[in-house]
Amino acid sequence: MNHRIKILVVDNEPRDRALLEALLSPCGYETILVASGQEALEKVAGIQPDIILLDLIMPKMSGFEVLQKLRAQEATVSIPTIVISSLQDSENRTRAFDAGCDEIVSKPFDRTELLARIKSLLRIKHYHDEIEDSNKRLKAAESVKDEFISTVSHELRTPLTAIKSSIDILDTEAPGKLTNDQKIFIKRVKSNIDRLARLINDVLDLSKLEAGKMVLNLLPLHLEAIIQEVVETHAQVAESRGMKIRTEFKQKLPVLMADKDRLIQVLNNLISNALKFTKEGEVVILVHCEDKQHMTFCVRDTGIGIKEEDIPKLFEKFQQVGGPSQHTGGTGLGLTICKQIIAKHNGLMWVESQFGQGSAFYFTIPLRKEKRILIVDDDRTTLETLRAVVEEQGCYEIEMASDGFLAGQKYSDFAPHLIILDINLPKINGLEVCMRIKNDLKNKSTKIIMISAFDTELKKKEAWNAGADEVLSKPVNTQEMIAKIRKLV
Ligand code: ADP
Repeated sequence: MNHRIKILVVDNEPRDRALLEALLSPCGYETILVASGQEALEKVAGIQPDIILLDLIMPKMSGFEVLQKLRAQEATVSIPTIVISSLQDSENRTRAFDAGCDEIVSKPFDRTELLARIKSLLRIKHYHDEIEDSNKRLKAAESVKDEFISTVSHELRTPLTAIKSSIDILDTEAPGKLTNDQKIFIKRVKSNIDRLARLINDVLDLSKLEAGKMVLNLLPLHLEAIIQEVVETHAQVAESRGMKIRTEFKQKLPVLMADKDRLIQVLNNLISNALKFTKEGEVVILVHCEDKQHMTFCVRDTGIGIKEEDIPKLFEKFQQVGGPSQHTGGTGLGLTICKQIIAKHNGLMWVESQFGQGSAFYFTIPLRKEKRILIVDDDRTTLETLRAVVEEQGCYEIEMASDGFLAGQKYSDFAPHLIILDINLPKINGLEVCMRIKNDLKNKSTKIIMISAFDTELKKKEAWNAGADEVLSKPVNTQEMIAKIRKLV
């Protein structure tokens, strides 16, 4: 049912309001008249007019201000507004457009022009409303689809699990001896059950990712051990095909904040693809963080490679490239899911490949360092030990300095959130460094933990007096230090 078009007229001149009503009402528009900006703002959300006609020059609150306030609120931001004003200069016209009006009509207004402009804005509003409606319907349909996929996939899992356990029991030959033919059939059933389970998991993962419902469980990860474990799960398959699988870490890897299960899922996918599409040679997993900003992973094989024209399709849903021999049991969803999991970690994934020679799948995950910590000690061993302890937490960017002068420089360049500061430093001692930093007018928030042997209470007092936020006795109890760091930053 068509509703009657509502037009809100905002004008402090009673004569102009009357004129507008006399023009609009006979055209079938419902006209609501208000005499001030404040009144308009109070009533507008309740009225929800289709169009506002707004005078610019009004006492107390000008039309410009009304426009700005209308555009600042969700309920009124998109109500089409025509300014009717005697201010004709380009500066005021620009100001009115900047404030958010859609049309300007000069005062005294030409009746035909005003009606034409109202009609034109109503037409635009109509299209706009239709687009909004269909967007809403699309969103609703999307979420029904997501819900459907998720329910069906879950429902499929239950009977599949029952089939799998029954077949597993048959396979043990406990219920009865199997003939060779029966064994072949059972093997086939098992492999298809696995394939179906993979498909269900992939579809579920993808629908979760696309609905933005995949939640990452980010934890500090020690990659060497995790990757080694992943490699071991593939070692047997590699060996059975006469292939090698090995890792190459260019340096000691720092702790990475990532979702362990999802990272393993990505690596498993890339490694099993690499093994699947390689007849001889090796699969190498390389990891490094040379740019200090990202952890870069690469799974490289000496397999069949990918044609250049196929590369753009690889990360698309349900895409299996190459000839039918390459469509071996997969779903064509693996790489799409991997890429999206990595994107959820704010990383990137790409491939470099030489057809006939091999492929290298790369992905990066940023090293999430939200807080910066500067460690200052003149003893190299202490410095390294403290660095290792802090790095272990996986969420701090670390810089080090070995004397008071360098500490001051690093403080300026690196802007640390926290400084772990030894007292007995060459060049400028730690107490002095602490005082200078705490007296720095630009500095509002750098916290300082002072460390020292503190053989007398007096020394501790000096540290507190210099402005330390915490003091810790050497040899440092690492647990205590981490607790203090967490408390301070
Ligand atoms: P699937 O689960 O079907 O393997 P993926 O998304 O993991 O799906 O891979 C899509 C396609 O990309 C594969 O079917 C294959 O054609 C190609 N592909 C993936 N990895 C490699 C690789 N290491 N070497 C050659 N082709 C590959």
